[in-house]
Amino acid sequence: MKKQICILGSTGSIGTQALDVIEQHADLYEAYCLTANNRYEELAVQARKFKPAAVVIANESLYEPLCRLLDDCPEVKVYAGKAALDEIVQAEPIDMVLTALVGFAGLSPTIQAIKAHKKVCLANKETLVVAGELICKLAQQYHVPILPVDSEHSAIFQSLVGEDDNEIEKILLTASGGPFRTFTLEQMKSVTAADALKHPTWEMGAKITIDSATMMNKGFEVIEAKWLFGVPAEKIQVLIHPQSIVHSAVQFIDGGVKAQLGVPDMRLPIQYAFSFPKRLHLDGARLDMFKQPLEFFEPDFKKFKCLALAYESIRQGGNMPCVVNAANEVVNEAFRQGRCTYLGMADVIEKTMERVAFDAAPTFETYVETDAMARRMANELITK
Ligand code: NAD
Ligand code: MG
Repeated sequence: MKKQICILGSTGSIGTQALDVIEQHADLYEAYCLTANNRYEELAVQARKFKPAAVVIANESLYEPLCRLLDDCPEVKVYAGKAALDEIVQAEPIDMVLTALVGFAGLSPTIQAIKAHKKVCLANKETLVVAGELICKLAQQYHVPILPVDSEHSAIFQSLVGEDDNEIEKILLTASGGPFRTFTLEQMKSVTAADALKHPTWEMGAKITIDSATMMNKGFEVIEAKWLFGVPAEKIQVLIHPQSIVHSAVQFIDGGVKAQLGVPDMRLPIQYAFSFPKRLHLDGARLDMFKQPLEFFEPDFKKFKCLALAYESIRQGGNMPCVVNAANEVVNEAFRQGRCTYLGMADVIEKTMERVAFDAAPTFETYVETDAMARRMANELITK
């Protein structure tokens, strides 16, 4: 029986690479459902090729045009709207849900997938940043595995195979450092979104590429690692590693360090999440250890204030990481549209953290309210 996969965000960077994995292993996997936010034309092309049972376009106003494009494919059911995402993940035939959509929007369908006992392959790190505690509790309660797709977390996960309950001393979380790694604060004052979108080692969606340029992405990954592996943030060390070859490592209490290495290719962590504990063939480049030296540097928290803010938010806990995520989504978009400067992003996030009411024990409803409130405040702060 082929495993039935639901890809939330199939038109994106992770989504399209996941479809490549499915295509390479068509004997093992089948796309049961594909979804997109706005890119309905691309979604229709994917639907024609992969023949999923259903497609969902989150933006409801694009329902009619999508239906027209799939007029002659009656076997593909078409749905629209956010609620449809929450519903489709629960469909009986689905074995795994790959959450490859961006931002807070990933939280609700992930919760529904867990409650429907679907294995979650988690690319949408924002879900764990916003509500890591709630997600972990639900995963435990419903006995649902959460398989990391983020390359660093997949590397940590791969390093932990066979270690059972062996104690972790610390996690070594690597970061490329992004395009501004060697910039001075003075130089950072005038960088543009176009500069920030030129990532040195990974090709990704626009939002995460900007998050990588501010290193908020690495801050989020510290929070993600805390929840996935139960290691406190103080024991998660960020290492700047410009080559992106060592994808991350685990140091155990005997001093032994295990890492996972490879060329930067997201298809490996995507495929490993699908196939775990098995490894499958994957075509593509192989690592050449003679090609370049491997370097490691300490991160500069003054230059990359977003990284410091993310650590601070998880130190405070409660709804604070949710505040940071929401403010970050707002400034990230504003920066891309030229409405906020590069250094202004961290300032707005910091001020939003000071203003939103702290809640030490948030529920799902608190997260929804916090998200809305933090977005409002961040938007106000940008226009000031
Ligand atoms: P992307 O922008 O390339 O694609 C996002 C996909 O989600 C698209 O299909 C889009 O239509 C859909 N989408 C966006 N917003 C949505 C919304 N509000 N509601 C419903 N659907 C929506 O993004 P990406 O780079 O593929 O990243 C996806 C997720 O994976 C992010 O959380 C990101 O942090 C994480 N991630 C990505 C990479 C990578 O290499 N791209 C690596 C690690 C983690
Ligand atoms: Mg990553």
